[in-house]
Order: sequence, then C-alpha cells, then structure tokens
Amino acid sequence: MSEHSLRVLLSENQIRARVREIAARIDADYPDGVLCLIGVLKGSCIFLSDLVRAIRRPVRFDFIGASSYGAGKASSGSVQITKNVEMPLEGCDVLLVEDIVDTGITLTHLLRRIERHRPKSVRVAALLDKPERHQRPVDIAYLGFSIPDRFVVGYGLDYAEDYRGLRDICLLD
Ligand code: 5GP
Repeated sequence: MSEHSLRVLLSENQIRARVREIAARIDADYPDGVLCLIGVLKGSCIFLSDLVRAIRRPVRFDFIGASSYGAGKASSGSVQITKNVEMPLEGCDVLLVEDIVDTGITLTHLLRRIERHRPKSVRVAALLDKPERHQRPVDIAYLGFSIPDRFVVGYGLDYAEDYRGLRDICLLD
C-alpha cells in the first residue's frame, strides 16, 4: 500500500451513530411498500451494508457501478457505467445510496438512469457531501455529514483502490 499521511475526520463511532439516525428516518418515512436501495459501487458498499442492517423495515438492494475518477483525486467529469441495476425497479420506492457527493455530476447522471426504470419515487442517501464543490443542483434527502473540500478515504472510499477498509473516514494528505 502507498504511504500517505492520514488524519481522522469522522470516527467509527460518529459514523455508526449517524447511520442509525438515518436508518430511523428512513423507517419513519417509508412505513410500507417495496423499498429498493441501490448502492453506487464501489465506495458506498460499506455504508449500504451498515444502513440495510440498521433499517428495521424490509428492504431490497442492488448495485450500480459508476466510475468518474480513475486512479486520481480529481473527477474526470464523464461518468462511465460499469454495472447496471438488474433488479426490477418499476413501481418501487428507490433510494440511491452514494458514498460522497462532490460535483454532483455522478449523481445527476445516475438519477436520470434510474428514472428510466419508472420507479414510484427516487431519493438520495449520501454519507458525505462537499457542498462547496457542487456544479449541479443536488437534492440529498438523507445526508450523513457535510465536509470541507478535502480528499477523504476509508469506510469504503479509496485512493487508487487503497484505504477502503479503514473504519474511520480520514483526510488524505
Ligand atoms: P462527483 O460526480 O459528485 O464529482 O463525484 C462523486 C464520486 O467521486 C464519488 O462517488 C466518489 O467515488 C468520488 N469522490 C469524490 N470526492 C471524493 C473524496 O474525497 N474521496 C474519494 N475517495 N472519492 C471521492
């Protein structure tokens, strides 16, 4: 693994507590109907797996693969779909689960794609948001934390595929 300096921005305990709060709000907001969570690969997989276990109501989940970063720290601005949703979404309440919203380009692209499946409703749950960086209007119904414009890793988030397994979210210098 490459050597970088890491500083904890959000601890494992802070993340755990926030995921529980978000799950409780989702339980309250969707008392019935089929709720489908769509995790955006690969960064959201740990957030999604903690979230589905904290939510008390029945859920289904699938993944969509999107890549805009390659091996660097800056978005390329174009979104490649690396895996499509396979689960039928027509008539379902859909929650798109993102690790982090930066420019909002990925989210905008994915929401347009999901709408083609004719779901009953679509909302976004994002663990992290960098509001200073938005280039598109984004509506995040369930947000974990707003963070400054810094590059972060851990809890699913990588730098060139490293650091995804860290339990905390850390600033990478
Ligand atoms: P956007 O399209 O909003 O600019 O970028 C969203 C995607 O960029 C996220 O799903 C994530 O993969 C990546 N990303 C944005 N900021 C960061 C960051 O600070 N750390 C990491 N590891 N990925 C980021």
